[in-house]
Amino acid sequence: MAGCPRFVLRVLALGYEGLVKPIIDKELCIGDGICEDICPHVFKLGDEGLAYVVDTNPEADLWDKVEEAARECPTDAILLEAYGPEQEMAA
Ligand code: SF4
Repeated sequence: MAGCPRFVLRVLALGYEGLVKPIIDKELCIGDGICEDICPHVFKLGDEGLAYVVDTNPEADLWDKVEEAARECPTDAILLEAYGPEQEMAA
């Protein structure tokens, strides 16, 4: 599964179709704005020129776009973590 984004591995490993929480690693972000272009409802460029997540709990109809943004991010700065009742209970 070379080239397969980490989030896909995570989601597949969990066999999960629950909630997906996008996270941006600001150490990796280069601020090219690709994620915002693809999914502006979830990703925005901030004043410092790096992307941030504006919707940490996107609706399911946005997941394809969130996934696409993560896949197209040139530095793999976008991680998607699946979470749901088990994770919420553990928190
Ligand atoms: S696509 Fe990746 S590198 Fe580009 S702005 Fe978004 S998070 Fe940053």
